[in-house]
Amino acid sequence: MLVLIDRDGVLNRDRSDLVKSPEELDILPGAPEAVASLTRAGHATAVITNQSVVGRGLIDLAMLERIHDKLQAAVSAAGGRLDKIYICADPPWAAGPRRKPAPGMLIEAMAHFRAAPADTVMIGDAKRDLEAAAAAGVRRLLVLTGKGAATRDAGWPAAVDPVEIHADLAAAARALTGKAAA
Ligand SMILES: [Mg+2]
Repeated sequence: MLVLIDRDGVLNRDRSDLVKSPEELDILPGAPEAVASLTRAGHATAVITNQSVVGRGLIDLAMLERIHDKLQAAVSAAGGRLDKIYICADPPWAAGPRRKPAPGMLIEAMAHFRAAPADTVMIGDAKRDLEAAAAAGVRRLLVLTGKGAATRDAGWPAAVDPVEIHADLAAAARALTGKAAA
């Protein structure tokens, strides 16, 4: 299975002022172990993240890479692997076909990993994650961390159903693997 994972609010704490340095990347408890349980179960994992922080000119790609080095190091220390990180730098006012809710990054990832939509899932905390997953034809898991509880309360268009709801990434990973994270 290919497991696509949103970043902010799922792997690390969502910040309304955006993550602009490794120091501002506050990894959620249990998230690295959850990725590790997916890796151990033989699933490919990829991050699918809108990073308008780049398109807005707040940080450059080199800084984004340093932020992701910290994320990868935490996952690696837990015994897991994020196989690829897809980013879309577009600011919202110049959104291309890769910026969620558009499905471009998900389609790219499925092509890279040669995964069919039926063998792919997307885990996210925002409506745009669910919409992108629905547009790509992949299974949708909402976690209640980050914006997740507000997303659940606000609801989504019927076309986005069905959506599976889990407390956090660890619970979503357990649902996908049938195992608790070590
Ligand atoms: Mg998010």
